[in-house]
Amino acid sequence: MAIEASNFIEEFINEDLAEGKVTTVHTRFPPEPNGYLHIGHCKALAIDFGTAKKYGGMCNLRMDDTNPAKEDTEYVDAIKEDIHWLGFDWEDRFFYGSDYFDKDYEYAVELIKKGLAYVCELSADQMDEYRGDLQNPAKSPWRDRPMEESLDLFERMKNGEFPDGKYTLRAKIDLASGNFWMRDPVIYRIKHMHHHRHGDKWCIYPTYDFAHPIQDALEGITHSLCSLEFEIHRPLYNWVIENVSVPHTPRQIEFARLNITNTVLSKRFLRGLVESGQVDGWDDPRMPTLCGLRRRGYTGASIVDFCGRIGVAKSDSLVDLRLLEACIRDELNETAPRRVAVLDPIKVIIDNYPADKTEEFELPNHPQNPEMGTRKVKFTRELYIDAEDFAEVPPPKFFRLKPDGEVRLMGAYIIKCGEIVKNADGSIKEIHATADLETGNGNPVDGRKIKGTIHWLSADNTIDAEVILYENLLTLEDPSKLPEDKQYTDYINENSKTVLKNAKLEPSLADAKPGDKFQFVRTGYFCVDTKNPGVFNRVVTLKDGYKPAK
Ligand code: ATP
Ligand code: MG
Repeated sequence: MAIEASNFIEEFINEDLAEGKVTTVHTRFPPEPNGYLHIGHCKALAIDFGTAKKYGGMCNLRMDDTNPAKEDTEYVDAIKEDIHWLGFDWEDRFFYGSDYFDKDYEYAVELIKKGLAYVCELSADQMDEYRGDLQNPAKSPWRDRPMEESLDLFERMKNGEFPDGKYTLRAKIDLASGNFWMRDPVIYRIKHMHHHRHGDKWCIYPTYDFAHPIQDALEGITHSLCSLEFEIHRPLYNWVIENVSVPHTPRQIEFARLNITNTVLSKRFLRGLVESGQVDGWDDPRMPTLCGLRRRGYTGASIVDFCGRIGVAKSDSLVDLRLLEACIRDELNETAPRRVAVLDPIKVIIDNYPADKTEEFELPNHPQNPEMGTRKVKFTRELYIDAEDFAEVPPPKFFRLKPDGEVRLMGAYIIKCGEIVKNADGSIKEIHATADLETGNGNPVDGRKIKGTIHWLSADNTIDAEVILYENLLTLEDPSKLPEDKQYTDYINENSKTVLKNAKLEPSLADAKPGDKFQFVRTGYFCVDTKNPGVFNRVVTLKDGYKPAK
């Protein structure tokens, strides 16, 4: 099976295939069901499922629920939904890490019998105190406890005879190891806690480092792909595989975690935002969760595309959030129908246009794709334009509407600004203008040049909507540079959500369904909110100056 490797993981796999260590590729994605998946998980998913697919292999979905503290079935269901949404499928290979508790126990007993594990009586604090340093080995006074005694105590730990923390089971490896994870690590601890799947059957639970390699081996995983923080645990992973009689020998390979500017990818942090009410739930469109991105208007394909563009590296790096935005922008540029929306309306009255007249102009649904057709929009004496497209005191090079200036109404007449009528508070009530009615959607007959084009709607033909604009949730660009005396929540961007309650949309948008996506000409890509159908979320602006490196 000669497949050209496109990253270092595939190079390792090719070696294993060439050396005959494996004949197939079987991976797994092991989320802990203690929160919703975020875009960092998508990187892992794309690697786990993508690598298996490339080699014609399989990928399991396994809930890593060995720790009884914080699991929740709400999260399990959400994780499954998000993975399917991205387009990955585990078929019938859905597992729970906790379903191997019996096996974990058996293998622990096997280690004790081999003299490779012992019951220890140190408290967590004492263990810390005794762990030694690079010059000095750890101390472990119970290391030479007779095997029979450890066997007996371990069984009684299981039977619930002791309180939490009284004993632990430790692997007997190397107290002098330069890798502290090998200094007789704890592999079982007493926790009188209810497990969401196994109730009160167990009061001892294996540690991740002991349970994970066993789960991989029992499922026949060939390559256990994980993020870089597990690199230092790899010797322990291999030690477990070598010393218990599991049926397979999986290989752990680590890749760099995804880090994104102005974003913290940690379920714990994201849960904190939800619980403290700083965002409106896990699916708040500002959240980097998959459900948040989906509600914002991202597609699964655009996120998988992003994971492909950033590639798979062995060292940590920081990816610009604008690269993710570029991915959805590229997709929606192709697929999203164009529509007109006036986000912050001001009224324009065309003085020389009859009050009882209505015309229709034809606008393309996608200027670069005629197959998407056209639609008619009505033109009347009273119009709306966006407040941003008018300046009473225009800055240099302002080519939109300004006193005495001319501008083209997109697809319709050229108008010239006349009287500006104000409200008592100084705000603009309406702008009067005259249209060059000879031109229609053409050029002025006298050949004068009109530089600006703005969008507009007939004031008598609109529907009302709420439009929400989003900015980065955090103002801290590099999340790894959090000053010591600060917390991420000190960097919440107060302008991350701007609600425009008075937007006017062209009437065709009355049929838009939750999740439908459009380009509102000149203002960005928008998606109908899935919880509040009268609300449009801005997915992303039309353009920014960002040029990805490749
Ligand atoms: P969090 O800190 O957000 O809870 P985690 O690593 O504890 O993240 P898990 O549910 O244990 O979350 O993760 C499942 C898989 O996703 C693991 O293999 C982990 O390596 C991977 N993963 C999590 N976050 C990222 C990330 N930012 N980039 C790449 N992979 C990630
Ligand atoms: Mg975790």
